[in-house]
Amino acid sequence: MDLAVMQYSVDKIRADFPILKQMIRKYPLVYFDNGATTQKPVKVIEAVDRYYLTINSNIHRGVHYLSNEATDAFEQARKRVATFINAPESREVIFTKGTTESINLVANSLAGFLLKEGDEVMVTEMEHHANIVPWQMVCERVGAKLKVVPISDSGELLVESLDSLLTERVKIIAFAHVSNVLGTINPVQEICAKAHERGILTLVDGAQGIAHQTVDVQSLGCDFYVFSGHKMYAPMGTGVLWGKASLLESMPPYQGGGEMIDKVSFTGTTYNVIPYKFEAGTPDVGGVIGLMAAIDYLTEIDFGSALEYEEGVMHYAYESLKQIEGLRFIGDAKRRTGVISFILNGAHPYDVGSILDHQGIAVRTGHHCAQPLMDRFAIPGTVRASFSIYNTREEVDKLVAGLKVAANMLL
Ligand code: PLP
Repeated sequence: MDLAVMQYSVDKIRADFPILKQMIRKYPLVYFDNGATTQKPVKVIEAVDRYYLTINSNIHRGVHYLSNEATDAFEQARKRVATFINAPESREVIFTKGTTESINLVANSLAGFLLKEGDEVMVTEMEHHANIVPWQMVCERVGAKLKVVPISDSGELLVESLDSLLTERVKIIAFAHVSNVLGTINPVQEICAKAHERGILTLVDGAQGIAHQTVDVQSLGCDFYVFSGHKMYAPMGTGVLWGKASLLESMPPYQGGGEMIDKVSFTGTTYNVIPYKFEAGTPDVGGVIGLMAAIDYLTEIDFGSALEYEEGVMHYAYESLKQIEGLRFIGDAKRRTGVISFILNGAHPYDVGSILDHQGIAVRTGHHCAQPLMDRFAIPGTVRASFSIYNTREEVDKLVAGLKVAANMLL
């Protein structure tokens, strides 16, 4: 363990997240639902506050002071995101309201343009509905087919199956960087290399990757990388689509409206350059400024060390949960991060979650917007504990104790 990690002070980090100090049902809050959304540090909350208190204004179109200040801050945020994910150019960063919108944007823009009747779109068995349904919808519209890469019982993608699945009919493969149920870290570089050898585009759903990995879109080698701000300590309603400039430039716009145009007349419209071509309407300026503050926060606290610390807590949780009789992990990939899913044999996940909630412990239960994955494992749902840079081993001990209470009551 390097010095930075040894010096990582979780108490200091926790002090940055006031919400964690709360008592829930007379117990100190234990928040293990970070996969759904992370809590926000004071710096992010203050940045959003400051925006509304001092420079709230619509961007790009104003001549006045506030509009210029807000525009500058918004465009600075774009640069900050580009640096955070090592994008070659900041114009490749498109602000959306989240992963879901980013995927819908790509799917809809490609429909009819790249995707035509008889083509195929490849997703995987471990995808979130956000990376299934938009593709399904555009496939239906253009007469293309959705194909699925299978996974193993341990929750790893059967990457070798790509050799036969990636035929010349496949136009794009869209897959999770990190599974929101299994925690599996997919071999992004290997998959992208296989796809690109065959001229197939790649979209990586980074909703769970962005908070648990340092992301370098150039080294990952994908064509599109998408994520949500709210899962990486930034405000809700913020998200990013990163795409290669050459692709974004050739793709048609997704939504029409203000900002995305060059010239409008009743006989026809020409479109703005990227990124604006894909940013129709007024964006969540305050939220994007909050996203910039979240990136600054992660940089200040040394994100790499924070991740190593978090990994230690997750490993401790995994080993501790193993001791609980009747607990079965769902997903046991060699490379995993962020979340641990399990079932207590015989108990419904919802009942387990409710009993934990009565002890102040927040976990997520259910299908986690991954019903096909639940079908794959023939289960109705799981209990999911998901981790963050502010969780502690003491909290893990509370989770284990809480689960023992649940097991006593339910089994
Ligand atoms: N993809 C994955 C892997 C997710 O975990 C989630 C949310 O949990 C999403 C997509 C959708 O994210 P959002 O609801 O922020 O758009």
